[in-house]
Amino acid sequence: MDAMHEMEELVEELNRYSYQYYTLDNPLVSDKEYDALYDRLVKLEQESGMVLPDSPTLRVGGELLKGFTPHRHLAPLWSLDKAQNEEQLNNWNNRAIKLWNEYNTKNPEDPLPELHYALELKFDGLTLNLTYTDGKLVQAATRGNGVIGEGILEQVKTIRSVPLTIPYKEGTIEVQGEGLMNLSVLEAYNKTALEPLKNARNAAAGALRNLNPKVTASRKLSAFFYNVGYSDEKTFVSHQEMMEFLKENRFKINPYIFYFNKFEDVMEQLEEIVRRRSELDYLIDGAVIKIVDVRTRSVLGYTDKFPRWAVAYKFEAEETTTVLESVSWEV
Ligand code: NAD
Repeated sequence: MDAMHEMEELVEELNRYSYQYYTLDNPLVSDKEYDALYDRLVKLEQESGMVLPDSPTLRVGGELLKGFTPHRHLAPLWSLDKAQNEEQLNNWNNRAIKLWNEYNTKNPEDPLPELHYALELKFDGLTLNLTYTDGKLVQAATRGNGVIGEGILEQVKTIRSVPLTIPYKEGTIEVQGEGLMNLSVLEAYNKTALEPLKNARNAAAGALRNLNPKVTASRKLSAFFYNVGYSDEKTFVSHQEMMEFLKENRFKINPYIFYFNKFEDVMEQLEEIVRRRSELDYLIDGAVIKIVDVRTRSVLGYTDKFPRWAVAYKFEAEETTTVLESVSWEV
């Protein structure tokens, strides 16, 4: 089969799977299968120098469901570049070092600080973007296509840990996180449910995109927050400062966040996360490495789809409902 023909077939197949996954919350194939086809398409696009206009490599996320009010995000919600092994991680880091070096050579009077890294878990649920104006939760939205999402405020309000008001009251901010169903909650739910739920990701995504907030409430969802995407007034110097701000404003933060001064040390911690992943009471599909310094982030900037200052290390797909109580890792 010639490359063009194969690309057409892959685009059609991937778009069908994406629709099922993002729009209907009902995946037809595993993430591993999806990712393998996606990687094949990226390779063909690179080799041929051609990208079909409806290629999934051009877009973030899915189509909007009718019935929800659209919400235009105040700053775009990005996808993440991904790596599946140490070599790909090193490639990502080498690109960051190159851009960092170029900037510092051109701006010796005002250089960027040394590259330091934060490592977080990559939660496998539904992206949430919360809007607060003068301290009050006024909107909550899905990621949608990254620019416009679906307004799901009433659904998100059923998550007990989401603050309806926050102490910070200077204009508007948008905070991003991931809505989740804990595995222990899913297990308990399925014991009495007439229709058992297949897995925690779809259970959470389906509940949040249900037009009836009572259904959402019955799923007893949870959420972790990890980013301030937009703010009228507030600026941050580092990731630590942003996380501190989220904590002070009573957002639920995941305890497993690790900071490294040397990139070589990241890999060891990643391996530990892979080993201990099944001890967690929620699904993760990887870990995210982010450059800590906010000014460096803006120098590195964004491609059409992802920030150049972050990368997701994706694990092999695993779905489990076995839960061990209280994990405590050295942080
Ligand atoms: P992504 O989900 O891999 O990464 C971006 C998302 O990561 C963000 O939107 C955010 O919600 C989430 N995230 C979780 N923890 C985070 C943290 N600590 N910091 C920052 N972000 C965090 O990217 P994507 O483009 O949404 O999805 C692509 C993936 O979706 C594919 O790799 C594939 O596995 C899956 N997918 C599967 C199917 C299928 O049919 N099985 C179809 C389409 C997509």
